[in-house]
Amino acid sequence: MRIAKTALAPKAAQTARSAVSAISAVTAITTLAAVASLTTLTLLACAPVHSASNSTTNSTTNTITYSPTARAYHFARLVDGTGAITNDAVIVVDGDRIVSVSSGTNSVPASVPKVELTNYTAVPGMIDVHTHMTYYWDHAPGSRPYGAGNTRRTPQELATVAMENARLTLETGVTTVRDLGASNYTDVMMRDRINQGLAIGPRMFVAGFGLQKIMPPAPGATPPAGAARAGGAGAAATTAPAVPGWMRSRIANISEIAGAIKTQIDSGADVIKMYGSRGTGADTSTAQTFNYDEMKAAVDAAHALGRRIAIHSYGAAGGRDAVRAGANTVEHSIELDDATLAQMVQQGTIYVPTIDHNRYYADFRDDYGYTFEQALGLDAYRARNLETARRAHKAGVKIAMGSDAVHMMFGQNTRELGLLVQAGMTPLDALNTATVIGAEVLGMSNTLGRVAPGYFADIVAVEGDPARDVNALLLGVRWVMKGGAVVVDKR
Ligand SMILES: [Zn+2]
Repeated sequence: MRIAKTALAPKAAQTARSAVSAISAVTAITTLAAVASLTTLTLLACAPVHSASNSTTNSTTNTITYSPTARAYHFARLVDGTGAITNDAVIVVDGDRIVSVSSGTNSVPASVPKVELTNYTAVPGMIDVHTHMTYYWDHAPGSRPYGAGNTRRTPQELATVAMENARLTLETGVTTVRDLGASNYTDVMMRDRINQGLAIGPRMFVAGFGLQKIMPPAPGATPPAGAARAGGAGAAATTAPAVPGWMRSRIANISEIAGAIKTQIDSGADVIKMYGSRGTGADTSTAQTFNYDEMKAAVDAAHALGRRIAIHSYGAAGGRDAVRAGANTVEHSIELDDATLAQMVQQGTIYVPTIDHNRYYADFRDDYGYTFEQALGLDAYRARNLETARRAHKAGVKIAMGSDAVHMMFGQNTRELGLLVQAGMTPLDALNTATVIGAEVLGMSNTLGRVAPGYFADIVAVEGDPARDVNALLLGVRWVMKGGAVVVDKR
């Protein structure tokens, strides 16, 4: 465990309950109680969201009463996800929310204790919109991260050991993830344990089983398609349920898609994931699996039930069909054509390039047992992915930071930001992908991705200047607050 000091504030349970409410509110708009409680919180926090560049407190009333646990965090400055910069920033946090943001301590009541973090710059807690938190490997002798020989675990056991991935993610300054595919609802278990305060980890929005088309295995593909989704650690082997394949999102034909999606949602999924092409691990093949009609059926089914949908496509054709079908986000795709990029701008489709994960697979090829030739294939794909991200950014497509982290990649979640800068972004553009755009991916733009009144108190203290050097975000994280609780402190 690499967290130097880990603290769960006394209000953690309350924080957790609020997080549960937030998730309910975003995923089940019929949960009126949750919406009402959010509204109350928002009103208490003087919700109108002004530009963070306001140099005075955003509070519009003199009647704010602070709880005894309220604190004013004093930073050298704040760089918000919008790019707004506040020097000598003071962020007042009460419960799990931000109450006010100001420059200087004058506007903060004397009754609120101050916490000096003036050696650091504050940025919003970051959002990684593509993880596989349940993919955990314990390096059991003779085993590989994917494949046979792993320690067999029940989903409950896997949810426990995989919390290491959650902790490593927090250390990167990522306080929220969208987890895109897991077996046996281990992701749902992790999310719920974190929200209940039983474990420490990022806020998770989860997909359950990702929809995959039943196809013959690609020649020479490693790992087999099923193993890639199994979350490693042999979980599937011990718990393979005796239910029809479509209930585990193994799709034989279009008629099974709507039922598969409803099953995921009924089982706790916040978002839907569809694998629209081959491509995983060392397999960088781009062949489309679900056709346009099938993608459209999935988009319609997800949207009808109030959920967003992410479609994975390594290749251009699947990416184009995912955009045409109305996917909310398109994952990975290389060589998207200009017309598709234009349509993404027009529709607001968000691109999640996940460039860095193939660097990771190449770096760790010995652990995975990949050949030198496979590593070359990963490098070649990464170069094309970077070029596509460059074209997409230039065309004005919204891009969100997603790591596609699995296994040992946790703790490297934000390295994608360095590649996005290589693709032509400024450091502030890159921060935007991991904050404001990430929140948009989740439909949480009013509560996540910014340091502003009414937002969750997700704040990261970094060394260095994230407005000028993206490495401050990659290497400079020293302190992380999630929902008002300090979860990492390496000062
Ligand atoms: Zn993925």
